[in-house]
Amino acid sequence: MLKDWLEAILSLLFPQRCPACRQWADSHGWCQACMGKLAKASQVALAIHNLTSLDECLAVADYSGPVQRLIRDMKFRRVTKYAERHSRLLDHAIAPGRYHEIDAVVPVPLHAERLKERGFNQTALIFKPWAVRQGLIWLDALERTRATAPQWELSLKERRKNSKGAFKVTRPELIIGKSILLVDDIFTSGITMNECSVVLKQAGAIKVKGLALASGAR
Ligand SMILES: [Zn+2]
Repeated sequence: MLKDWLEAILSLLFPQRCPACRQWADSHGWCQACMGKLAKASQVALAIHNLTSLDECLAVADYSGPVQRLIRDMKFRRVTKYAERHSRLLDHAIAPGRYHEIDAVVPVPLHAERLKERGFNQTALIFKPWAVRQGLIWLDALERTRATAPQWELSLKERRKNSKGAFKVTRPELIIGKSILLVDDIFTSGITMNECSVVLKQAGAIKVKGLALASGAR
């Protein structure tokens, strides 16, 4: 309640423009019209993508337009202030309590070298504040064991090879018997998420649902 008031006061003192239409934004960093247009959760058709390990996967926005621009700014220009805006798209698109059966939220990790180079995992910056607001437990339980080439540079066949065996569960004792929500910034082929789901289930997870901020899947 107090936080809502503080946010309202801050947005009056420091008004922001909506990154999509340049109109004045509300305290969530988007104008209401663009928020409504951009944040629309949709199920990814897992069978079409041949992703057999995930139990479901939801994407909150299309990987295009302002969402794409802001994610790129985060990853390649290290503009971390956009994380909050992205996290608000999650609030808008996902009904509270949708993940009530989830025991822990696990982010797709970056390789230690890339994390060092970038200074942050954009997925954690986007999803962690949302998970906290939802009362969900955040768990860094995966590690990328190989520094893989960025997936978007590769063909589908190369992507599969690239991801195979690239992940490891670091804390299996916290995964066994649990329902996991696996989160990532972008869903493209889904191969990365599926590979993470495979190792989580090998470690004893009973359910792995995927949640991506943006989907570039066609
Ligand atoms: Zn707008």
